Amino acid sequence: MGKREIRKREQREKKRVAAERVDVLFTLAERVFPYEPELSDRYVEIALAVQRKAKIRIPRKWRRRYCRRCHSFLVPGVNARVRLRSRPYPHVVVKCLKCGHIMRLPYLREKKERRNLWRPRRARSESGPSEGSS
Ligand SMILES: [Zn+2]
Repeated sequence: MGKREIRKREQREKKRVAAERVDVLFTLAERVFPYEPELSDRYVEIALAVQRKAKIRIPRKWRRRYCRRCHSFLVPGVNARVRLRSRPYPHVVVKCLKCGHIMRLPYLREKKERRNLWRPRRARSESGPSEGSS
């Protein structure tokens, strides 16, 4: 195995470990929130620092659980308001009640699957009248 492959493998391992740490930190943030919400915010800061350094994405699961502006840990019904909207595209609206920041998170994937399930197969022959013979 060449040096390059080893390096690549190391990078992948680093990212995996970072993703795990991010998950642990958010889990902790959720756990301590009822007692010490400031500590939750601290965990979010650390998780975001890990995320930035490793250049990974915040897992889908936690993406709507922190404010992108003030970095507070968000709990729907406590310090965040969550609404579903289908127009102009399906998305979740999360409002941070601490700083008022509004985030729109699309959830296209789930919706697209459903749409494909329900969409009827349309025949091509429905087009205009003077199409000639085709
Ligand atoms: Zn905020």
